[in-house]
Amino acid sequence: MSEESPVALITGAGRGIGAAIAQSLSASGHRVVLTARSTEELEAVAASLPGEAICIAADLTDSGAVDRVFAAAEDAFGRIDVLVANAGAAMSAPVHKTTDADWARMLDLNLTAPFRCIRRAVPGMKERGYGRIVVIASAAAKRGEPLIAAYTASKHGVLGLVRSVAAELAQTGITVNAICPGYVDTPMTDGSIANVVAHTGRDAAAVRAYFANQQPTGRLITVAEVATAVQFCLDSPSVSGQGIEVDGGAVQS
Ligand code: NAP
Repeated sequence: MSEESPVALITGAGRGIGAAIAQSLSASGHRVVLTARSTEELEAVAASLPGEAICIAADLTDSGAVDRVFAAAEDAFGRIDVLVANAGAAMSAPVHKTTDADWARMLDLNLTAPFRCIRRAVPGMKERGYGRIVVIASAAAKRGEPLIAAYTASKHGVLGLVRSVAAELAQTGITVNAICPGYVDTPMTDGSIANVVAHTGRDAAAVRAYFANQQPTGRLITVAEVATAVQFCLDSPSVSGQGIEVDGGAVQS
């Protein structure tokens, strides 16, 4: 690994999809910058990678956090060639019980933080005439499902952001895409299952099977499958402005 190796910044890299993307990009020769709130989780991921990595703990919804993370990353590695805006959270509530705080929490993390990351990443990428930006959106970026209005609005919003920025940057060497997974086997999905169990008293295995059956394939998506789609975006200079479904064929678009 040398100063010539490309640099990838991955948000939400401490577990789940972000940790798998870090593995995949490290294995394909990237120096990686891992960020999330939990230092312990980040360090465990960094220790498991084949290549060079640094960890920067930050709550991306704090004011100034995105600028601090990018400054520390550039101090360490000099530049950012690849941005994977993956950090996100979900919540479930009927729309009439969704509070202003719930709404703000979903939009701040799932929409505003990716916007700030993209805004901060683009000038350096433009200067170098190369960049890859991938946002981990959701199947909820393309269709509405009950009881997740704030999450769905944030993910539709982030896909709009991706499409507009891709159009704006078409002649710069930078591509901008979103990955739109169905239900993925991660701690977030474990949390969603636990939430349904707590509210309905249903059996956890039955709820997990219900989530698995939201994919026509009848199973949860794996984190490695999402990481493969990210790698596809990195390898594909003519793919930009897309919301790429990784959902077992649920949404055909
Ligand atoms: P996860 O297992 O809960 O991991 C989320 C990651 O984001 C963690 O590293 C977490 O670390 C970080 N994070 C959360 N809040 C943060 C904050 N305020 N500031 C900085 N980092 C923060 O979730 P996942 O399932 O891997 O999901 C990753 C992305 O995929 C999300 O955008 C999610 O919406 C999307 N997605 C997930 C699924 C699914 O079924 N799991 C489906 C479609 C889309 P800390 O808590 O330590 O900060």
